[in-house]
Amino acid sequence: MFPEAEELYRVNGDLESMTDDVPKIPIVCPVCETRAKIPFSNVEETVTDHNERLHDGDPVAAVDPDVFDHLADQVAVDLGLLEG
Ligand SMILES: [Zn+2]
Repeated sequence: MFPEAEELYRVNGDLESMTDDVPKIPIVCPVCETRAKIPFSNVEETVTDHNERLHDGDPVAAVDPDVFDHLADQVAVDLGLLEG
């Protein structure tokens, strides 16, 4: 891991106690055409709960695939990997 990653992780941990500032992650469900933004720390639980309640546990709802690119870019920016 990059040394900076430790700091990023610690900062994100601090944010968990300030729920208003937790980054929201878009999830999509192609079956019922649901789109929602869920606080990062609740994404997995929310997706699992949605699938269990509405789709008999089928893993149809998931994090919006587009977000992974944005997240990767954002993490790279935060780590300073895009500078210089
Ligand atoms: Zn659904």
